[in-house]
Amino acid sequence: MFGMIDFAVIGGGIAGVSAAAALAEMGSVTLFETEPMLGYHASGRSAAMFLQTYGNAPVRALNAASAAIHRVADVLSPRGLLVVAGAGDESLVAASHNSLGAAPITVAEAVALWPILDTAVCNRAAYLEEVFDLDTDRLLQYFLRTARGNGAEIRSRCEVTSLRRIARGWEITAGTETFTARSIVNAAGAWADRIASMAGIASPGICPYRRSMARLPAPGGLDVTGWPFVDEVSERWYAKPDAGAWLVSPAEEDPASAHDAWADDMVIAEGLARYEAFVTEPVTRVETTWAGLRSFAPDRALVIGPDPADPTFLWCAGQGGYGFQTAPAASRLLADLADGRPAELTPDVVQALSPSRFRS
Ligand SMILES: Cc1cc2nc3c(=O)[nH]c(=O)nc-3n(C[C@H](O)[C@H](O)[C@H](O)COP(=O)(O)OP(=O)(O)OC[C@H]3O[C@@H](n4cnc5c(N)ncnc54)[C@H](O)[C@@H]3O)c2cc1C
Repeated sequence: MFGMIDFAVIGGGIAGVSAAAALAEMGSVTLFETEPMLGYHASGRSAAMFLQTYGNAPVRALNAASAAIHRVADVLSPRGLLVVAGAGDESLVAASHNSLGAAPITVAEAVALWPILDTAVCNRAAYLEEVFDLDTDRLLQYFLRTARGNGAEIRSRCEVTSLRRIARGWEITAGTETFTARSIVNAAGAWADRIASMAGIASPGICPYRRSMARLPAPGGLDVTGWPFVDEVSERWYAKPDAGAWLVSPAEEDPASAHDAWADDMVIAEGLARYEAFVTEPVTRVETTWAGLRSFAPDRALVIGPDPADPTFLWCAGQGGYGFQTAPAASRLLADLADGRPAELTPDVVQALSPSRFRS
């Protein structure tokens, strides 16, 4: 048995590591991760983008409040977003202008940005310059350095298998050992519901949804480095450059159970067919595929803060498709709420992210 920990963080993805960094300024932190390495699940499988206008209002507030740390951590580099629409979807370009802020451009301008766009298929396009590649490993390492610098202990290959409420906090069984902690942080991604149920805490229902990726050789052997992130207007697929290669996602959102996700061949094939309909270069080969789980609360905003039934159980879950964009502000909010100090975000945003919003 070890001395009592102030914060036991469960989960070693971007949510848990950023939470550990923020909480370690306030007390002792031990982070538990099942896998041998941090960032093995959703955090190792993302599209690695920062788009401030992506997500609903509380997510956008977190995106905006995170930008300063993203700059300090030096993780952003310009990419740009090109939205393309085929016949029948023209009106959606205006909708995407309203929601994402992408301004209409001509098809000729779109081809100048993305030379393999098939002008016989695409008849409307829009562009937003303020969209960035986000170096996800660098951000994870930034928070890991901060957490360790503040004394956090990181335990990988250390799955939490039971949680028991005791007088002054929690008894935690992890790996072969038993720990005690004043507070638990549920940063378990797709496993967040399982952790809540282990602790006897009601969950709003955090549901994992699979999303896949295929890496292709550069289309036509072209230099893809300066190409934008390309999004079909209804998000039936999206694509982006990746270290000289080209990523295409079928952009599916298939409900799944928490597991080590992999790409479904049929979903990849159908997604590539939808993508191929828009381009002049055929898909000749797929180098590799993978999938990850994006886990959403029912209203698709993150769940951050103390549980209303037991404030020693802290939520840092429901990161959906925005975990890297939002991590700096979400982890800061978690620490503010754990410390009882005023949050930097406005009260309406704090409430829209609070676990209490699901309790009547
Ligand atoms: C295809 C795809 C594209 C994406 N694109 C973007 C993007 O462009 N920008 C963006 O910001 N986000 C993007 N995301 C979303 C982003 O990847 C996630 O929001 C983020 O990684 C979630 O982080 P997490 O730490 O909550 O989850 P995870 O990284 O899954 O970490 C949770 C960890 O908890 C651990 N765990 C679970 N149970 C236990 C236990 N009992 N004991 C110990 N450890 C446990 C797991 O092993 C896991 O490592 C994308 C996701 C996918 C799949």
